Amino acid sequence: MRKPIAHGTNNGYQQHKKHKTEVCVACRMAHNAYNAERRRLNREENPSVTIPIALLDKIYWQASPEVLAALDQHFGAKKLDALLS
Ligand SMILES: [Zn+2]
Repeated sequence: MRKPIAHGTNNGYQQHKKHKTEVCVACRMAHNAYNAERRRLNREENPSVTIPIALLDKIYWQASPEVLAALDQHFGAKKLDALLS
């Protein structure tokens, strides 16, 4: 016999998905709160700003090899090429 679903928790949400049962409101709310907290922690650990692509373009063409490598690693060469083309 399977374990009873722990409703109102993210674990409960995962159990609903695993057992292919309809997710109840309490589990959906818990899952949303879990995701919101993960996003908040991620923002806290990886603070960032948004800059215009034109400014990124200027930075790119002035950048040292070290900065170019960091930009490549952050965006991926393909995306960086697409942004700056
Ligand atoms: Zn539930």
